[in-house]
Amino acid sequence: MSRLDSVIRRLQAQRACLDCAAENVAGKQGVILEMGLGNGRTFDHLRDRLPDHEIHVFEREVRAHPDCVPDQDHLFLGDMRETLLQAEDRLKGSAVLIHADIGTGDEERNRAFADWLGPALRPFLAPDAVIVCDQEMRCYQAFQMDLPDGISPGRYFMYNIK
Ligand code: SAM
Repeated sequence: MSRLDSVIRRLQAQRACLDCAAENVAGKQGVILEMGLGNGRTFDHLRDRLPDHEIHVFEREVRAHPDCVPDQDHLFLGDMRETLLQAEDRLKGSAVLIHADIGTGDEERNRAFADWLGPALRPFLAPDAVIVCDQEMRCYQAFQMDLPDGISPGRYFMYNIK
């Protein structure tokens, strides 16, 4: 598989998982957390699919297209290892959907970061929340959801925490 094929498959998997999660949470009251704004593509997709849900974004440094930058009230700017702590009082128990797209080319770093992030998100989860992530979150292994049709296991990860 070429690198182009690989990127396309990853983005198709990402979109399919986000669409599946959006259907799952559409009728539920609560907020969305977007961990990592990047170019703002998935932020834009989520606000398109779930226009009635507030989206709070955690990002170290904003470099997205200006159309895809949340307002100040919905942006936690800085390292999420610190900003998540600051957000806890405000957003505790309120997230019906969390999307974390935080991987880099460094597999060891990705594994360590996901092992930290999974438990760090726990205080934010509303009952029956869905987490969609580009990395495996081992602490939620018991809550893995089936991936949408055609998405290979391990390409993206979905959890429904009961
Ligand atoms: N989903 C995004 C999109 O569709 O455009 C891409 C996200 S990009 C792969 C990951 C983002 O996470 C980067 O913008 C990076 O700055 C941010 N990030 C990674 N680690 C972070 C941390 N510890 N604190 C805050 N932001 C972080």
